[in-house]
Amino acid sequence: MAMRLSRSIVGEAEAEAVRRVIVEDGYLGIGAEVKRFEQELASYLGVDPELVCTANTGTSALTLAVDAVAPGRFGEGPRGSILVPSLTFVASFQACTACGVRPIACEVLPETGTIDLADCEKRLAKDTFAIMPVHYASNPWQLDEVYAFAARYGLRVVEDAAHAFGCRHDGRRIGSFGDVACFSFDGIKNITSGEGGLVVCQDRETARIAQDARLLSVEGDTRARFAGERTWDPDVVRQGWRFHMSNIMAAVGRVQLSRLEPEFIPARKRLCALYREELKDAAGVAFLRESPRDDIVHHIQPLRVLNGRMPAVRQHLLDAGIPVGVHYKPNHLLSYFKSEGEAPFPQTEGLFAELMTLPLHPGLADADVREVCAKIREALA
Ligand SMILES: *Cc1c(COP(=O)(O)O)cnc(C)c1O
Repeated sequence: MAMRLSRSIVGEAEAEAVRRVIVEDGYLGIGAEVKRFEQELASYLGVDPELVCTANTGTSALTLAVDAVAPGRFGEGPRGSILVPSLTFVASFQACTACGVRPIACEVLPETGTIDLADCEKRLAKDTFAIMPVHYASNPWQLDEVYAFAARYGLRVVEDAAHAFGCRHDGRRIGSFGDVACFSFDGIKNITSGEGGLVVCQDRETARIAQDARLLSVEGDTRARFAGERTWDPDVVRQGWRFHMSNIMAAVGRVQLSRLEPEFIPARKRLCALYREELKDAAGVAFLRESPRDDIVHHIQPLRVLNGRMPAVRQHLLDAGIPVGVHYKPNHLLSYFKSEGEAPFPQTEGLFAELMTLPLHPGLADADVREVCAKIREALA
């Protein structure tokens, strides 16, 4: 079988769980299965189930989070701005504009691809109310510094932790501390619910706004639906969306969550360690820097190819039938997110010109990694 850059690892157990929801329960919307998934996610992260809110995608989760922490209400005038690293999936940016918030693209550090706080300081605007660090390639680099920066300027923090489910910082799971963290369960992330996302808040009020907003901001509807009921006489005081997860998705997600620690994490760690071992003496390539304080479960495996040689090395791999990814075209280069008169992005563009993403998923064999690394060494020679 041809090597894949990434893929879902699903099988009989997930199929059986979906079958159970369809045949035995028959209620496919947001109900008991989603409630159980939320309880299990909360217990995995070590937080109160009242603080979590599943969603239909990671992008929806980010939109709910940004909307919940932004000043004012969507549709009632300007809502301020948020600092976002330019090197991220366009979802981080779209989630902001989706609820009327202006994303301010910031530089990333050349060694990690994560947000550059010195640059954030320069781009901070009068109406900036939050910062969105993206844990690029699952790396929660300088997370304490991000929180210190936010405290200094009175900002909320919305972590785009789409890559970082299962990761730890100083022994604590990402999403178990801080302010707000968002995860993605799309098909290729560390776990999947067949599309899906999660917001984890550390305060009840933010969580309540997000939970209501995912069900059209019908007040208290989550509680009612988890009890198998409906809210027939509700009030609605702000914009909401149909961003909830279905019981079918939750059934897949529950099985995936149970496979994360015994199966997916060891596989991803083994493959990433092998990449590092195989390329440790290769001149002209570098892995992104990581801190020993962080326990990282890589969702993607980017590699820097130095000295302007990335396009040639990438082409050599593609010619050999090895898929190579690009994560990501910086958002300040996209027409919709370009901003008139903004300062240039030499670091981000410099890193972008070096980065390529190697195949990584728990179904990859050690021999695949060795083959990829042999081709890289060959291209460099
Ligand atoms: C996957 C991803 C998202 C969005 O998640 P979806 O579930 O695909 O909507 C957001 N940010 C980053 C960095 C991602 O990789």
